[in-house]
Amino acid sequence: MGRKIWLHDRLVDESEAKISIFDRAVLYGDGVFEGIRVYSGKIFEFDAHIDRLLASARAIRLALPMDRQGICRATEQTVRANNIVDGYIRLVVTRGAGDLGLNPFLCKQGGLFIIAANIQLYSEELYEKGLKVISATTVRNHPMALPPQVKSLNYLNNILAKIEALDAGASEAIMYNHMGYVAEATGDNVFIVRKGVVYTPPVQSGSLDGITRAVVIRLAREDGIEVVERELVRFDLYACDELFLTGTAAEVIGVVEMDGRPVGAGVPGPVTKRLREKFYAYAHA
Ligand code: PMP
Repeated sequence: MGRKIWLHDRLVDESEAKISIFDRAVLYGDGVFEGIRVYSGKIFEFDAHIDRLLASARAIRLALPMDRQGICRATEQTVRANNIVDGYIRLVVTRGAGDLGLNPFLCKQGGLFIIAANIQLYSEELYEKGLKVISATTVRNHPMALPPQVKSLNYLNNILAKIEALDAGASEAIMYNHMGYVAEATGDNVFIVRKGVVYTPPVQSGSLDGITRAVVIRLAREDGIEVVERELVRFDLYACDELFLTGTAAEVIGVVEMDGRPVGAGVPGPVTKRLREKFYAYAHA
């Protein structure tokens, strides 16, 4: 028996978890999703993730096939059925199957599936040593096109930047918006530290409203560290003392090389380490 997957309205064996080739998630990337952690058996920041899912769905006029309570229950059941204590949930809502045209309102019934699995995005060694990143030439989606705040199933913008990173032998790429301001990494939010102050671009610079980002900002402030949300340019990433990324999968991870330049002392810095520890303690509390 494989993994148990929530498919639409019930748990099924992984081998039976199939969706239509006419589902618009497949044809157009038409849908929304969430990536959520489970820590010590508890679904992390669950309300915030569901809030974001609902906001993404509203933005693309996608009617969820289940209400909030139903989605929460289905998620909890999927976690339990797979005995996940520390892991990762992928919660996906699709527009469902329609015909081959663009009109989304021809779909009668949206689709929903939930995968609960184990995860390790980066090795322990990378958390110790830090990542190498580059600047992507691919510009982050314009907010008047597909707003980066919508966690949609269409990740091609990010994937194109990720390809640039991999081609350069880097783990991640920093994406800039159409104005040249730092937006985010391909799957993470961006932070820098300069003279003990933490800076991160406002979400309006073109990033997902990261849930890890919000937790890290809160934990830093509780710890007496000043956090400033303001626009950042590439120079800020070259001149900073520390650079780190946050995300559900990556958690808090230091960056030690940016476009071939060492960041700070070339090892994850003290503020990054402290926030990583704080995050770990909070997640497992
Ligand atoms: N930006 C993008 C593009 C993402 O896909 C993600 C999630 N992987 C993030 C930022 C981080 O958001 P969160 O902390 O909510 O996972």
